Amino acid sequence: MNNYLLKALAYDKQVRIYVVRCEEALNEIGERLNYFPSALAAVGRVMAFTSMMGGMLKLEETVTVKVDGDGPIGLIMAEADAHGHVRAYSNNPHCHFEYTDMKKLNVKQTVGTMGYISVIKDLKLKEPFIGTIPIINGELGEDFAYYLAVSEQVPSVVSLGVLVDENNKAVNAGGFIIQLLPNTKEEVIDALEKKVNNLPTMTELFSSGYSIDDIGKILGDETYEVVEKLPVSFQCTCSKERFGNGIISLGKKDIQEIIDQDHKANTVCHFCGKEYDFDEEELKELLNSAK
Ligand SMILES: [Zn+2]
Repeated sequence: MNNYLLKALAYDKQVRIYVVRCEEALNEIGERLNYFPSALAAVGRVMAFTSMMGGMLKLEETVTVKVDGDGPIGLIMAEADAHGHVRAYSNNPHCHFEYTDMKKLNVKQTVGTMGYISVIKDLKLKEPFIGTIPIINGELGEDFAYYLAVSEQVPSVVSLGVLVDENNKAVNAGGFIIQLLPNTKEEVIDALEKKVNNLPTMTELFSSGYSIDDIGKILGDETYEVVEKLPVSFQCTCSKERFGNGIISLGKKDIQEIIDQDHKANTVCHFCGKEYDFDEEELKELLNSAK
């Protein structure tokens, strides 16, 4: 098992550690929708973060992360559950930027530096939990750390990285989140700060052969203990029924218009690229259920 999510505790249970590797799930959508490199890197970072947020959930809860910046990729959205299932999507997979001096993928220019990040948690209560912050950097690691600190009041370090090869395929993708629990001692914070500042980037760690476990251990101390390991995989929750419900929600007038003009409707799932076609008969059935 190469792609999984690790949850651990360290520093006498004062610190929670999440580490994930997810290039297999990322390449599933990258190949289906012909992602360009920096767009793939941006979506991969959101996917890695979202899958770790999923690791903080219970049972049937789900989390959706939306990054809506002013960059050419447009809206990026990822969803995850508590079981390692993740899917992600962006408005424009066909954009690509590099930092001219370093040949490094430019996620900031892809995403933009103005806009908003929203995290929507469906905790199976009446109302979902929604937290929104402005984008502060655009490389996303810092932005998500800012979200956790401001919106969830948990001081956190977030590191994310995606390495893309010349065939537009992710060689590695993943990240880690370190969270300080309210009772964390000052000396632990200092030790962690030093550790994180001296750490190579996520893609460097993976490229040098460090496993998820290795990275967890590096971030921890002698009290480090693994809580859970979950395989991470791409899973799309789309279905013809869901798209049918989407059409129903358009209302009678709009559906009648589609029937009159096109006699059919072709829909495509933005997450996985799957197509769902509705013929005239099916549209008439949906019309009957619409308001
Ligand atoms: Zn789908």
